[in-house]
Amino acid sequence: MGSTRVESVGVVGGGVIGMSIAFELASEGIDVVVIDPAPGHGASWAAAGMLAPASEVAPGEERLLQDLADAAALWPSFAARVGEASGSVVEYRQTGSVLVGATPSDARDVTRTVKSLRSAGIVVEQLDGDELAEREPSLAASLRSAWLLPGDHSVDNRRLVAALLEALKALGVRIIEDRCSRVDLEPRGLRLGLERVGDVRCDVCVLATGATSPIAGTEALGLPVVRPVRGVTLRLGAVEGIAIPKGPIRALVNSAACYLVPREDGSIVIGATSEEQGHRAIALAGGVHRLLDAARLVFPGVDELSFDEASVGLRPATTDHLPFVGALRDERVIAAVGHYRNGVLLAPLAAATIATIVRRASCA
Ligand SMILES: Cc1cc2nc3c(=O)[nH]c(=O)nc-3n(C[C@H](O)[C@H](O)[C@H](O)COP(=O)(O)OP(=O)(O)OC[C@H]3O[C@@H](n4cnc5c(N)ncnc54)[C@H](O)[C@@H]3O)c2cc1C
Repeated sequence: MGSTRVESVGVVGGGVIGMSIAFELASEGIDVVVIDPAPGHGASWAAAGMLAPASEVAPGEERLLQDLADAAALWPSFAARVGEASGSVVEYRQTGSVLVGATPSDARDVTRTVKSLRSAGIVVEQLDGDELAEREPSLAASLRSAWLLPGDHSVDNRRLVAALLEALKALGVRIIEDRCSRVDLEPRGLRLGLERVGDVRCDVCVLATGATSPIAGTEALGLPVVRPVRGVTLRLGAVEGIAIPKGPIRALVNSAACYLVPREDGSIVIGATSEEQGHRAIALAGGVHRLLDAARLVFPGVDELSFDEASVGLRPATTDHLPFVGALRDERVIAAVGHYRNGVLLAPLAAATIATIVRRASCA
């Protein structure tokens, strides 16, 4: 970026990542414009809102654990700041989650998972039958093994993206509902070509485009390849008299993982399928069936709730499954992509990282 002071930033992509970045930059007094044909309605809308730093990581993904922990630590102040700037509630809940195994073989696998989480320094507490019944009385009495993960939290991701949008407007950020189809690198700044509205000029742009294909003009900049990994969540609405889990439940049921995330209004989100099927955003009946089947073995009250929605999203995954947050070959173009399964949790960290990059560039 040389010694040019950064005064204006164009954020392309208004999912949880792009809007969190825009929020951080605008809070620092930078002139920000967000470009997205449907802000907040990509993967960030389909997500369940688990904030689970206690994730298992595959070999090679160890750095992710530190990022997840760093992001989790930023969440309390991030939620408070977004809530305050927007005047709305994002429903950030610090309940901890309960990890359960349904069958004896699931219980053995869950115990192995607990061992690996503990060896990564994550706090996990065993719950006996009485403790589980007291903590989560709505769960099936047949569950074999239960553990408390105190560091797992949740947020209502839909309330979050709505609040971010309000906060951005309150901070004077321009939101342009259009698609960016071209980035031109010019000697005195960048020109973003929009499909309907025309050109937008800025000093720096941030590509936070989730699982979509690269934009023309950015091909030679070293943007990592991002592939879509389709996921479906189910939303079940409250029915009077039916108690739901008090906090998030992570379950292994006949070797398949599923989770249930309760909301304060008595609804729950059940997640999630994981399918490598390109960009087709459809919910397959088989996936919906498997999720419901697994969820009702853990929480039988599922049968009594109202089936409201199956939502589909495309998780943005890089080849190594690690997010890429940093400047590209032309340093005026920054990318924040590849947040895969944990983008809601990682959003405050991506925002803080990009704000640091832009601040350093401004001071250079
Ligand atoms: C089913 C499911 C469940 C999930 N559950 C969780 C969870 O519990 N916890 C968690 O932390 N994470 C979860 N995730 C992952 C999380 O949702 C994603 O990592 C996160 O939403 C990625 O955010 P994003 O802003 O990068 O992408 P998106 O939310 O997809 O946003 C990208 C935006 O870019 C816009 N865009 C793309 N191209 C252009 C262009 N050329 N011009 C303008 N705009 C453009 C799109 O319109 C879109 O709005 C889940 C994901 C799925 C699919």
